[in-house]
Amino acid sequence: MKDKILRLLSFLFVKDFNCIVCGRELPSRNGYLTCANCYQKMEIIEDDRCLKCGKKLFGEGDYCLDCEAHEKHFDRAFAPVSYVGAAADLVMAFKFENKRYLAAPLARYMTDRLLREGVSPDVILPVPLHEKREKERGYNQSALLAKEISSSLGISLAAKAAARVKETLTSSLLTGGREAREANVKDAFVVTEPALVKGKCVLIVDDVLTTGATASELSRVLRKAGASKVYALTFATTREKPPLQGDRTSGET
Ligand SMILES: [Zn+2]
Ligand SMILES: [Zn+2]
Repeated sequence: MKDKILRLLSFLFVKDFNCIVCGRELPSRNGYLTCANCYQKMEIIEDDRCLKCGKKLFGEGDYCLDCEAHEKHFDRAFAPVSYVGAAADLVMAFKFENKRYLAAPLARYMTDRLLREGVSPDVILPVPLHEKREKERGYNQSALLAKEISSSLGISLAAKAAARVKETLTSSLLTGGREAREANVKDAFVVTEPALVKGKCVLIVDDVLTTGATASELSRVLRKAGASKVYALTFATTREKPPLQGDRTSGET
């Protein structure tokens, strides 16, 4: 009986001690559940990032070319890693392969980034999925991340504050760049409970930031509903200029 229980427990917890990227056993448990080797292969975004959208900068200056040219409705966005290599694989697995257990380690990367940026939001709002999309997938990946971040930081979750009322196309299916993405998300969200965000500093949580069109549109309606500040936190963000190969930009949903 005792053996059975131990076997069951090791089955339940085995993932806690294996690297989420390569699957190898971790010598010691860390919050990211990432081995040193895989961590080194990720593109961690340090201080060389755009002060508006948080993308890693490859040139001089404080802002990326896109933020210099286009207005975004959030105050700032940040992410711990670039959406390339292992980080992109993790997002795909989390979103499309039902690997919900990835929520805790991915959220850990995100909370550490938030603390480092010195931002202290009043409420956390996961980017809502359209009801139909959430039913198909069975879960909203952003809500899983938001829940983890909310409980580890003790900041209240305002998941009911907004809803996605327009079915949008997955960004990867869009051609035509920025304009098409902006048109796709235009009026996609409504604030359903303004009292939850009015006068508050709101942190939007999502898995990936690509053009920032989704986060910007959600920020626009939150501000209209009286939010005092809006920040966006994602696990990954696409590079300022995606490399010619090896990059996946299916990002926003
Ligand atoms: Zn590994
Ligand atoms: Zn930028």
